[in-house]
Amino acid sequence: MSNLFRKVLVTGGAGFIGSNLVDRLLEEGADKIIIIDNFVTGQRQNVTHLLNDHRVEIIEQDLTDSTWLANWLASQNLEPLTFIFHFASPASPPRYQARPVLTYLVNSLVTHHLAQYTSQYSTRLFFASTSEVYGDPLVNPQPESYWGNVNPNGLRSCYDESKRLGETICGVWHRQTGADVRQARIFNTYGPRMDIDDGRVIPSFFQSILNNEALTVFGTGEQTRSFCYIDDLIEGIIRFAKNDDLSGQTINLGNPQEFNLLELVKIFEELSGQNLEKQFSELPADDPTRRRPDITKARRLLNWEPQVDLLTGLKKTYEYFKQQSGK
Ligand code: NAD
Ligand code: UDP
Repeated sequence: MSNLFRKVLVTGGAGFIGSNLVDRLLEEGADKIIIIDNFVTGQRQNVTHLLNDHRVEIIEQDLTDSTWLANWLASQNLEPLTFIFHFASPASPPRYQARPVLTYLVNSLVTHHLAQYTSQYSTRLFFASTSEVYGDPLVNPQPESYWGNVNPNGLRSCYDESKRLGETICGVWHRQTGADVRQARIFNTYGPRMDIDDGRVIPSFFQSILNNEALTVFGTGEQTRSFCYIDDLIEGIIRFAKNDDLSGQTINLGNPQEFNLLELVKIFEELSGQNLEKQFSELPADDPTRRRPDITKARRLLNWEPQVDLLTGLKKTYEYFKQQSGK
């Protein structure tokens, strides 16, 4: 094990992706992992298994308290962090829209503090950006070179514009100081440890099935998404994180198989063995009409390709939700 994961900070480590990432980092041989999370959208059950692990420290704290954050980072100077994974941020549209200020601060101001710290030590920073930086894209699939079509002052902008600013901040510190900063644009990812109440489409559909309710489809259901299973995403993150030659890079991570929501419902019918009732409701403002990653760059630089097809990944996720709900 190199020094890369000697002392790692995972912000948002109690969340869906963050907690899966922590488990993988431990498998990778990380010596020490510090999770900072205020549980605003994360779940305690995601980190219960880590409570007695001497390699893991969990700090319950809102990172947007920048006095606290600056002091805490300064207190790490004797044995500096070797790696920072910045994954803290609500990711579900209803949840980030319910906390717009926290959302834009955690992706901008907090990223600023972390990038500044990174530039002072030989720390590597990995920023969890998003396919939302492409907004409602006018090109499909979306390559990293596409600049996006984003409403700067809409309901989603507290999230997508702050992720864009987060990328700007990472780029500025990288260019000005040579800081080792890299960013993944993560496309819709699903799997165990999602919160079933989170409001994103996959947990919502499972919740409806488990409660014998109709699936709520927003709009006509013709909008598309491309869903990546968590294990595939984590593999891509780890390959990107460990590669010494990718400082300053931005890479899409997602599954390029594209489905519209009506097709997604059909897959849920196959999975559950039931004919599922659909209830249509109004499409939320600025809901992107299509989304599909161009992963040419990830294939080339990371030799990475998602392995888990949607039906297989959904089956694993269904098992998780059934077990959680006791049904
Ligand atoms: P999640 O809501 O499950 O996890 C986010 C975690 O961050 C939670 O544990 C939450 O409590 C914590 N958090 C949020 N604000 C915080 C704050 N101010 N201080 C401390 N902790 C805070 O979401 P997720 O799906 O695991 O997403 C993780 C990251 O990946 C986010 O940055 C998100 O934008 C990004 N991302 C996720 C997806 C996806 O499909 N899951 C897609 C694109 C980008
Ligand atoms: N959606 C839906 N029903 C739901 C939740 C979401 O039809 O219960 C739709 C939503 O309008 C969007 C797609 O599913 O078009 C994916 O939504 P999600 O919130 O999972 O992620 P997004 O990609 O929009 O951030």
